[in-house]
Amino acid sequence: MIKTKKYGALIVVSGPSGSGKNTICDALLAKNSNYWLSISCTSRAPRGEEVNGVNYYFLTREQFEEKISKNEFLEYAEYNGNYYGTPLSVIEEKRSAGIHVILEIEVQGALKVKEMVPDAIFIFLMPPSMDILKQRLENRGTETKEKVLARFKTAYQEINEMPKYNYVVVNDEVENAVDKIESILTAEMCRVDRIEEVDLSTKEEVLHESLMEE
Ligand code: 5GP
Repeated sequence: MIKTKKYGALIVVSGPSGSGKNTICDALLAKNSNYWLSISCTSRAPRGEEVNGVNYYFLTREQFEEKISKNEFLEYAEYNGNYYGTPLSVIEEKRSAGIHVILEIEVQGALKVKEMVPDAIFIFLMPPSMDILKQRLENRGTETKEKVLARFKTAYQEINEMPKYNYVVVNDEVENAVDKIESILTAEMCRVDRIEEVDLSTKEEVLHESLMEE
């Protein structure tokens, strides 16, 4: 009776480093086969066990700038001295196939997406507290103290941008946070602006007549 668009959602997930974006996105993907996480390009060096083409496409600054000049990004930003960008290709293809596309990106890039893709869903992931965020950043052990400090400082600036998002999810427990994001998607899929067609094939007069006869 109601036909809704099969078009997948574009979900933008941001939050400070250490808010657990990677863990949450991985858990979402493990549970839902109709979600796809976009792989970004970056000019930063691989960290820990990161693999090219899996975690990121690792590029030199020159390679990244060439892609900028060819308009190959949906959005890009400089963050802590490195470029990060979302490749344009594939996103439309996935959404048209009914797949929900997740962009796990920082705030400046998210705000650019907001201008370009008005129907995107913006979710801000918050750590349970700033103390926990500090601990998580220190426990990573993959970066210098200066870099950890820079990320912590950036975290405060990013949290100031939270009101520009549609939803905030506190990452206290992975399962809780994943449940909440799934619920957000369930609600978003019921929005009236996703309705393509309402088929009221049984006419009101027909029903009216049959009611009168009873
Ligand atoms: P990290 O260096 O910790 O992997 O990422 C640093 C920040 O860059 C994170 O907040 C991450 O979400 C963000 N990021 C990752 N990919 C992209 C992207 O394609 N575009 C933008 N704007 N930010 C990104």
